[in-house]
Amino acid sequence: METQSSNIFDHDVMNLFQQISRIPRDSGSEKAISDWIRDWAQERSIEVEQDDIWDLILRKPASAGYEDHAPLLLQAHIDMVCEKDSSSNHDFAKDPIELKLDGDWIVSESGTTLGADDGIGVAAALAVLDDDTLPHPPLEVVFTVQEETTFAGAETVDISGCKAKRMINLDHADERELIVGSCGGTGVEFTMPLQRKSEVPAGKQGFRIHLTGLTGGHSGEDIHRGRGNAISLLLRILEDPRVQTVSISGGTNRLAIPREAEAIVLADSEETLRACAAEYKAIFRKEYSGAAPDLDILTEPAEAGAPITEASFDKLAAAYRLYPNGIVQMNGSFEGLVESSDNIGIISTENDTLTLTSEVRGAYQSTVDDIVRSIEALAAMTGAGVSYFNGYVPWEYAADSRLRAIATETFAEMNEGAQMKQIALHAGLECGFFAEKQPGIDLISIGPDCQFFHSPKERVSASSVMRFYEFLKAILRKC
Ligand SMILES: [Zn+2]
Repeated sequence: METQSSNIFDHDVMNLFQQISRIPRDSGSEKAISDWIRDWAQERSIEVEQDDIWDLILRKPASAGYEDHAPLLLQAHIDMVCEKDSSSNHDFAKDPIELKLDGDWIVSESGTTLGADDGIGVAAALAVLDDDTLPHPPLEVVFTVQEETTFAGAETVDISGCKAKRMINLDHADERELIVGSCGGTGVEFTMPLQRKSEVPAGKQGFRIHLTGLTGGHSGEDIHRGRGNAISLLLRILEDPRVQTVSISGGTNRLAIPREAEAIVLADSEETLRACAAEYKAIFRKEYSGAAPDLDILTEPAEAGAPITEASFDKLAAAYRLYPNGIVQMNGSFEGLVESSDNIGIISTENDTLTLTSEVRGAYQSTVDDIVRSIEALAAMTGAGVSYFNGYVPWEYAADSRLRAIATETFAEMNEGAQMKQIALHAGLECGFFAEKQPGIDLISIGPDCQFFHSPKERVSASSVMRFYEFLKAILRKC
């Protein structure tokens, strides 16, 4: 008798995933995989459209008896994150990713990300299209590009020719979970002029203060974990009367909670500054004993020019303190879920201008707009400028969803009454763009158990892929 491991890649979804894995598909370089799927569809007389950034739309008529059912859209992204071990000499521009089975886990044999995110979603949709024995409604399948970088595919793909008012996104990573909403957001840049003294006050020496050792994390999904913002902690030191601030810089990306920040300051002596740093280190280590036990405040002599005036620094500190930063509101519909937040990810005082760069997120466009109004009010009071960039729309949770009901009923039937966990994310998904293009669209997101995304340890459970595919087929039968 053959073992499961020897024939796992004969499974419809696994076989297609293996074929996809041989084709490079870094975000922004999707032409080869897009062409391969186009040719695959044409060989099977499946209608296919390709746009000029290589998004694809495929269509298959309903199976016999389902002709009068409402159409359904299946969606997945064809790009992947390309990360590899330092020891791997894999070339993502041309080398195939070889798959291997390790227990129940499929992993890359090439020391690279596996690309199950979202190659498994793509393979599952293709397997559905390839099986003429499946009962299903009219199908529209949309494959997008650049999900991992800019959402450019989901943003640009033209679905005005699609008829479906219900959609299953195949990009989730836990077979027991049903995603039912995702947040929207916008990048914000807040700029305020600073005044500087004409010279270094007599008797002052220059130093660098470096605050380090925080854990950081994703500006949305980790914002509730109490990990602390390095910029906020540094500012508390700079407000101390023993210190005069010359410049501040901290954070590298508005989408990450800042782990480090530093300032150039003036103080009476190295002893004074060291004593000051030690006091704050003791306070912060107490506050963050769980989240940042290695928190440290380092000081060293440094070149320093004239400081920011006291009045201008007070205004800077007040603006920072009043700027929405961290959790704004928890979500009353989902226990423990953040509804809206803002993350000051970068601070700079270059060119005598305070610049704060943040990422606002909300489960509803109206709550994103509400935080933006707070920032606008602060800017009006302080004479600051505000600009917005990279905005994206939320997939708002819908109280009623027929598709959600079908999915949860089907899951319970297949799993001895077990209930799927319904989850909304405090992060953006491609689904938001589809919700915007097709107002009122009924949406869910599902997928098999997959772990360690975006890292060379990425792995997907083979048995979960099979259960996920049976689940998807059972939903199609009921649609
Ligand atoms: Zn994905």
